[in-house]
Amino acid sequence: MSHHTPAKKSLGQNFLVDRRIVSRILSAADLTPGDTVLEIGPGRGILTRPLAERTSALTAIELDDNLASTLTTEFASLPHVRIVHADAREVDISSVVAPDIAYKLIANLPYYAAQPIIRRFLEAAHKPTLMVVMVQREVARTMTAAPGDMSLLSVATQLYGRPRIVASVPPRSFRPAPKVTSAIVRIEVYPQPALPLDSIDAFFTLVRAGFSAPRKQVHNCLQQGLSVTRDAAETMLSDAGIDPKRRPQTLSLYDWGSLYAAWRLRYPETDAHPQSLRQN
Ligand code: SAM
Repeated sequence: MSHHTPAKKSLGQNFLVDRRIVSRILSAADLTPGDTVLEIGPGRGILTRPLAERTSALTAIELDDNLASTLTTEFASLPHVRIVHADAREVDISSVVAPDIAYKLIANLPYYAAQPIIRRFLEAAHKPTLMVVMVQREVARTMTAAPGDMSLLSVATQLYGRPRIVASVPPRSFRPAPKVTSAIVRIEVYPQPALPLDSIDAFFTLVRAGFSAPRKQVHNCLQQGLSVTRDAAETMLSDAGIDPKRRPQTLSLYDWGSLYAAWRLRYPETDAHPQSLRQN
């Protein structure tokens, strides 16, 4: 393609121009010819074309009107490729991949919407088995953080899968070049969440409360975030075997699981707030 409409900043359009990075993404996806792939934000198609060659079914969701229509024309002769003009933050997943079909999600994500898109697919009833996504490196580091540097996003990612950073990607690999360094993250998605939770919403109510003041000790955060007494917060923590003086970022995913179990035992009637995670 020789004529491009200008990149739209508001849609996070930083197009990949580095073929080596395309190869890194493809190899991280461990593609086999029978794979079904969902691409988010195909843009000008630099990933879409090799994906179409290597998979038996490819659906690509693009929000930009012009790009969606150009791609639809370009791929019209390939029956196994479908371009869907939609917003990946809201799309009905069952309308893009049949519920009984396993799929991999591959994307160079628009940065403004990367977290809602990742969250939506990790939380979905029909999750991908594998995600390979380009995000800002800082976001990648938070997703993959170990105890000591954990945050709500680390817990929310690691509950659903095992993330690792495949490569850092410099701004010069994109046009226009973004201001920040990016990273490719590979997430092996678990068939079931890593913790046995009776309510995901209630779990995130607790975790959000726990991170309500990340610099403070965890008993303070729980007191403040759950509106409970100091005694109640300390009892929950001691039931869970967690020193109340620890900072919330030092708790592992499994510490949060133990704390959740202790909280549910003491407060079984606690209402979950369905918006709890999404509000952040
Ligand atoms: N995949 C292309 C590449 O690597 O060059 C484009 C990547 S660019 C970072 C992000 C793409 O996502 C753009 O094409 C943009 O129009 C599209 N996009 C932005 N917001 C979107 C959304 N909410 N849903 C689906 N696509 C979106």
